[in-house]
Amino acid sequence: MPTSQTFVIVGASLAGAKAAEELRRAGFGGRIVLIGEEAVRPYERPPLSKAYLQGAAGFDKAAVHDESWYTDHDVDLLVSTAVISIDTGTATVALSTGESVRYDRLLIATGCSPRKLSVPGSDLPGVHYLRTIEDSDAIRQAIAANGHIVIIGAGWIGTEVAASARLAGAEVDLVDMASSPLEASLGPEIAAVYRDIHLEHSVRMHMNTTVEAIRGAGVVEEVVLAGGNTVPAAAVVIGVGAAPRAELALAAGIEVEDGIATDQFMETSVPGVYAAGDVACTYYPFYGTRIRLEHWDAAINQGKAAARSMLGEQEPYDRIPYLYSDQYDVGMEYTGYARTWDRVVVRGDASSREFIAFWIKDGRVAAGMNVNIWDVADRIESLVRSRQPVKESRLADPSEDLTSLVPET
Ligand SMILES: Cc1cc2nc3c(=O)[nH]c(=O)nc-3n(C[C@H](O)[C@H](O)[C@H](O)COP(=O)(O)OP(=O)(O)OC[C@H]3O[C@@H](n4cnc5c(N)ncnc54)[C@H](O)[C@@H]3O)c2cc1C
Repeated sequence: MPTSQTFVIVGASLAGAKAAEELRRAGFGGRIVLIGEEAVRPYERPPLSKAYLQGAAGFDKAAVHDESWYTDHDVDLLVSTAVISIDTGTATVALSTGESVRYDRLLIATGCSPRKLSVPGSDLPGVHYLRTIEDSDAIRQAIAANGHIVIIGAGWIGTEVAASARLAGAEVDLVDMASSPLEASLGPEIAAVYRDIHLEHSVRMHMNTTVEAIRGAGVVEEVVLAGGNTVPAAAVVIGVGAAPRAELALAAGIEVEDGIATDQFMETSVPGVYAAGDVACTYYPFYGTRIRLEHWDAAINQGKAAARSMLGEQEPYDRIPYLYSDQYDVGMEYTGYARTWDRVVVRGDASSREFIAFWIKDGRVAAGMNVNIWDVADRIESLVRSRQPVKESRLADPSEDLTSLVPET
């Protein structure tokens, strides 16, 4: 498919690199310019809190493609280069190098940046956030050098860093305003399972509390909790959420909600401009609403879907959300999307760490999470997708084949 068109992708990470891959796979013969402000080629972030942080996997394992892939596939990868503005009128992006690039189609895949904690001392040396490979390197060094890490925020990143730090032998204190880690995502019952897992690994929990300050003489030394209690800290890792990097789009007059608003084809309010991955707030036909996810699976598949739309295919993005997490020897997959629910039904024994939890809303499965049980995510997806009422007693009974609970269509 030879063409003189230029497709520009802003953000050289998972969504952007997967979009470039899909463009070439689909036979796009024009120019692809993949622009990223980081100094290295696109990489996946999940290892940064797991195998890479633990030193069990190097950069090449995290990289989306081999170094040679970009030249082999004629993709112009510009690293250490930021896009500083987008002009949708002239269809150009301006680069930090002073150059500008004209595009026929534009994909914005600028991801997220960590939310900052604004308490006194949060800018002291020794306070870390985790988003990039450099952040992970710095935290790994802190774990190795100091051995006492205080983690503020017990969400996915905070709990995964806690697990990796404990596996490396560091002392770990975990602080959160919820009563258990991951409570906002999983609810109290399943969050309690994760609390117990971390307690068994001697993580010290400071739940139901907030941080008033981080203190130290020139470098972090302690974290001050509400009420004045202090926790000694050789290093602090803050994981209190992430915010979509939608400023470029906003300044260009592209519609932004919680992230860059797109339709089910990943197209933004400006024709010919697309968004994908963590920065995109995408219309999900199945849910009848826009959703912004910060999931590895969404970055890959939205990137590919955007690429197909850029090529003129009209195929809606219709995946059921999926995420995974690994902590110690506990692996899990979560399929579905449950912001609110009526009950959680557990199949198996949660204390044995081999179980499936289902989040039930209006008698239907809104989401399911398999923990140390594998090859069931597709059946959970079918249950979610079916939207059919299910008998909770059958869901809870491990002898009932999950497939038999999915009504035939
Ligand atoms: C530590 C960590 C662990 C994770 N673990 C899991 C997990 O276990 N399971 C899971 O499902 N998800 C996980 N995630 C989430 C997953 O990594 C993200 O959903 C995914 O990285 C999103 O990819 P993206 O390409 O949309 O955005 P990003 O990966 O954020 O990439 C965006 C890129 O755009 C660049 N950029 C931004 N603005 C500009 C600009 N103006 N010019 C040029 N470049 C720009 C950024 O520098 C960045 O390289 C994890 C995330 C982190 C941080």
